[in-house]
Amino acid sequence: MVDTSKYGCARIVSRRDVAADLWVVRIRCDEAVPFRPGQYLTLGLDVEGRVIERPYSVCSAPAEEEAEFFIERVPGGELTEPLYRLQAGAELLVRKRSKGLFLKDAPIPAEPHVFVSTVTGIAPFVSFLRALRAGIDGGDTPAVPILALQGAARSEELAYADELTALADAAPWFRYVPTVSRPWEDPDWRGELGRVEDVLRTYADEAGVRAGHGGVFLCGHPGMISNARAIMRRAGLADAQVREEQYWPD
Ligand SMILES: Cc1cc2nc3c(=O)[nH]c(=O)nc-3n(C[C@H](O)[C@H](O)[C@H](O)COP(=O)(O)OP(=O)(O)OC[C@H]3O[C@@H](n4cnc5c(N)ncnc54)[C@H](O)[C@@H]3O)c2cc1C
Repeated sequence: MVDTSKYGCARIVSRRDVAADLWVVRIRCDEAVPFRPGQYLTLGLDVEGRVIERPYSVCSAPAEEEAEFFIERVPGGELTEPLYRLQAGAELLVRKRSKGLFLKDAPIPAEPHVFVSTVTGIAPFVSFLRALRAGIDGGDTPAVPILALQGAARSEELAYADELTALADAAPWFRYVPTVSRPWEDPDWRGELGRVEDVLRTYADEAGVRAGHGGVFLCGHPGMISNARAIMRRAGLADAQVREEQYWPD
């Protein structure tokens, strides 16, 4: 029996397949679960009487009626394999409490921000940017300079590229730089090349992040996070200037 004091029920409203093993899903919870941008919800499935659950950063802004997630299927993964088979209309379980402290210190007033992600690690930044933009458009939140760097093997994995490019075109305070590490598998790609940590130092310098000024926020792949932390340390940043959300253990 599922413990209904801990878990609520949600239904998949829509699904967008982005690339092999990557999809964006929107769900509607029977009971809304409040969250701040940067937090995660715990999604689960009841598999033969046992709840299998994992944390997923929310991509949607808190004001949206549905919660949105960007998920990668891990081959043999206990949850993502059955989750991947679900289409619109299917039900899942959601813990009734959101969690996470990742972006609790953002925005830092008037200082530059560098958001660094690998593939699905863009999720908390999408939520943050959607909410920030709404606040700025509503006139009650001051703009802060933000550069979002997103790494992927191929450009097809950049699920939010259109949205973030449009935001960058519209908002002078925002810049989006996607980078592709397997350009030989993506011959039409004309953008930045290499892993996101390979280009981080150059862009962080350009953004004006330096010792004691600005913040770097890292999300996703554990290897990227440890490399990026080391690069920022060599650039003179204090550890407290660099925050992270690591999606799985090293
Ligand atoms: C705070 C937080 C937020 C997260 N947000 C997201 C998100 O927005 N989108 C998302 O897709 N995932 C996210 N994750 C990862 C997610 O919670 C699961 O770990 C992932 O979906 C795999 O679950 P699984 O049950 O299928 O695999 P499991 O059976 O738990 O794991 C199989 C193995 O794969 C490793 N692994 C887990 N994820 C990956 C991966 N992406 N690539 C390669 N190896 C992996 C695990 O360490 C484990 O060794 C987040 C994790 C944390 C801690």
